[in-house]
Amino acid sequence: MSNYNWCHGPNCHTKETQSRVRGSGDNKVLRTIKIKQGRYNYSGRPELITYDDYFCGNHCLFDFIREHLTSIIAIAPRREALETPIKVEKTKEESYRYKWTENGSERVPYMATRTTIKNNS
Ligand SMILES: [Zn+2]
Repeated sequence: MSNYNWCHGPNCHTKETQSRVRGSGDNKVLRTIKIKQGRYNYSGRPELITYDDYFCGNHCLFDFIREHLTSIIAIAPRREALETPIKVEKTKEESYRYKWTENGSERVPYMATRTTIKNNS
């Protein structure tokens, strides 16, 4: 048995595409796209739900986000910066810079500092 969702894009039913036209004669409408659940789920795990199950495309997803951004942010507001512990390793290495001269350029060596971030996890 297949389950379907209506696209959640707030303007889905206003986009002028052949796939949205329904009705007959003078009673035609543009209708919200009907989405088969799991249409792009190739994981073999039907319990995994993705936004593809609720939006016909990125335009409808972003229309929804724009319209409901305040509510979406309220679900999990970020009131403080998060931090990831790291170690920073600084090493000296020889490098070159180019100095312009009357005859073109010349390579001038100097000691550069390379900063490498080492993740603690
Ligand atoms: Zn849509």
